[in-house]
Amino acid sequence: AAALARVEGLIRDIPDFPKPGILFKDITPLLGDAEGFRLSIELLADAIEGPGPEYIVGTESRGFIFGAALAFHLGAGFIPVRKPGKLPADVHSCEYQLEYGTDALEVHRDALHRGARTLIVDDLLATGGTARATGDLLRRLGAELLGYSFVIELTFLNARQQMTDAPVMSLIRY
Ligand code: 5GP
Repeated sequence: AAALARVEGLIRDIPDFPKPGILFKDITPLLGDAEGFRLSIELLADAIEGPGPEYIVGTESRGFIFGAALAFHLGAGFIPVRKPGKLPADVHSCEYQLEYGTDALEVHRDALHRGARTLIVDDLLATGGTARATGDLLRRLGAELLGYSFVIELTFLNARQQMTDAPVMSLIRY
């Protein structure tokens, strides 16, 4: 509980970013605090149940930070899921809805073997669009999805209800 409070105390509210009316949860104070950052990775690791993941899948770009650190901590591989046009080899692409318009995410087609145990990691769960698109990409690769892990969950957006394919875990809920 002390560790969780320490992590929560390092998340800062930024009003009207990136647009008026949005209260942005800024995780940069957490990243800059050596103990807080380490605790956040240990708490993410502690929350994993059952057999450990072979791969952590992190979504661009803050998912890279927590995902890569968690992969290192667990002794797992790290797979980046990126914005279109960034990955150099053959990719699977998944479009998803934004508030206005669509965006897409990509993963390398040869990133992992069929049946590989994977865990999706990102800093924050809002509407769930990003996470569900990442889950779709893993399904197309034939991976086993063990779950979704987030440092922060905005519960009032009810994303969790639409993520029925695997367990959803979050450290801090607003
Ligand atoms: P969703 O697709 O669930 O609506 O949005 C989640 C994605 O947007 C995550 O990749 C996350 O990094 C980013 N995001 C949305 N809102 C915030 C926020 O308030 N703080 C941070 N740090 N990331 C956010």
